[in-house]
Amino acid sequence: MRVRFYGVRGSTPAPGPETARYGGNTSCVDVRLADGSIVVLDAGTGLRKLGNVLREKVVNAPVHLLLSHTHWDHVLGLPFFAPLWQSTTRLMVYPLPSDAQERFQRTIFDDIHFPVSANDIPASIEFIKPDGPSWRIGSATVQRIALNHPGGAQGFRIDDGDGASLAYLTDNELAPRARAVVTQDALAQFAEGVGLLIHDAQYLASDMPEKHGWGHSVVDDVLKLGVLATPKRLALFHHDPDRSDLELDSIGERATHWLAEHTSSVKLVVASEGLSFDL
Ligand SMILES: [Zn+2]
Ligand SMILES: [Zn+2]
Repeated sequence: MRVRFYGVRGSTPAPGPETARYGGNTSCVDVRLADGSIVVLDAGTGLRKLGNVLREKVVNAPVHLLLSHTHWDHVLGLPFFAPLWQSTTRLMVYPLPSDAQERFQRTIFDDIHFPVSANDIPASIEFIKPDGPSWRIGSATVQRIALNHPGGAQGFRIDDGDGASLAYLTDNELAPRARAVVTQDALAQFAEGVGLLIHDAQYLASDMPEKHGWGHSVVDDVLKLGVLATPKRLALFHHDPDRSDLELDSIGERATHWLAEHTSSVKLVVASEGLSFDL
């Protein structure tokens, strides 16, 4: 399984000289399975660049888009995804169980937010509602889990046929004040032992208590989840739009130290655009 980050920012794109190294595009991760299947995690603004890479590759292969939810920062790249404008593209979308197809289309392709309506898109788009909590895509098994986020969000675990594995948990508040949809222990179990755990790490302790209930996690809580879930690599993701490259450098350094003191097996990564792994 090959994984490459195309967008690592949360809430809104944050371009500019202060964010150039980690990148200003919102959530989008490219995953290629062992059998070559194309899986895309979220359709934030990073999807535009990925679309340019995929343009020719998708003529005979479907794109499987796993959407955490339909907040703007996770769907805004979709109108600018070049394969959408090719009639040879098959886009399979796995939305939240509660997201009706109409709701998804109303987010963008409604003649108000974008000039082209859903019915005039050349690509064929299929909305998939798996029967149970797990299903197959190509050589992999995919599972989903509900997350703590206003309006709901879902996380995914992908176990590929060759033993590689990945968990993608973004737009999740690990320590919510209100009743949790999912506990930290349940998430640790869900992501246990994966090769790469990607988790929302938008906030610092100093951002609290102001941002309790906003549906994102404090870095310290993400590190504790890392100790419980013991992935090979833990990637801090969905960076705050106001977080500069220098601030992310120091967050990474502190987090690496903390992890080294509490576990020997988990390697810390601060997600950045273009970073890739062979798992
Ligand atoms: Zn988000
Ligand atoms: Zn959100």
